[in-house]
Amino acid sequence: MALRMRENERRMREREMFMMAMQAHSHHSQAYEEDRILQQVMEESKANVHDPSQPDVDNMTYEQLLEMADNAGKVSKGLSRAEIDSIKAFMWIEGRTATDSCSICMDKYVSGVKYKKLPCKHEYHSECINEWLKSQKKCPICSKEVVC
Ligand SMILES: [Zn+2]
Ligand SMILES: [Zn+2]
Repeated sequence: MALRMRENERRMREREMFMMAMQAHSHHSQAYEEDRILQQVMEESKANVHDPSQPDVDNMTYEQLLEMADNAGKVSKGLSRAEIDSIKAFMWIEGRTATDSCSICMDKYVSGVKYKKLPCKHEYHSECINEWLKSQKKCPICSKEVVC
C-alpha cells in the first residue's frame, strides 16, 4: 500500500515536471518537442537523487521492505518475526513427525531438514511454516490460531 502511494506520488511529480517543461517550451508545440521533453523528464527522474527523508525503496531488500511496512504500522495479518522465531525448529529424523510430508509444500521430509510443530501439534517444514506465518496466524491444516 505504502509502496503504491509512493509510486503514484512519483508519477504525479513526473507529470508536474513535464507540465512545467511544457509551459516553458510552449512556443514549440509540435508533438516531436513534447516527446523530446517527456524523454528528458523521464531520464532526469531516473537519475534523480533520492530524497534522504524518503526510504530508497528501489534498492531495499525484501526483508527491509517488510520491516518498513511493520514500522509504518501496516503490520501484516501474520506473526512478527520474533514470534515466528520463538517457535522452535527441530531436525527431522525418520519417525519424528506424525506425517511423513509437509502439508504446505507436499514434499516428504528428508533426514536433517528443519521442521516446526505448532501448538496444535501440526508439523511443517520450518521454512514453509515460517513463510506462511508471516501472513497468517492460523495453522494451515486446522485453522487454530497460533499463539506464541
Ligand atoms: Zn514444506
Ligand atoms: Zn493445526
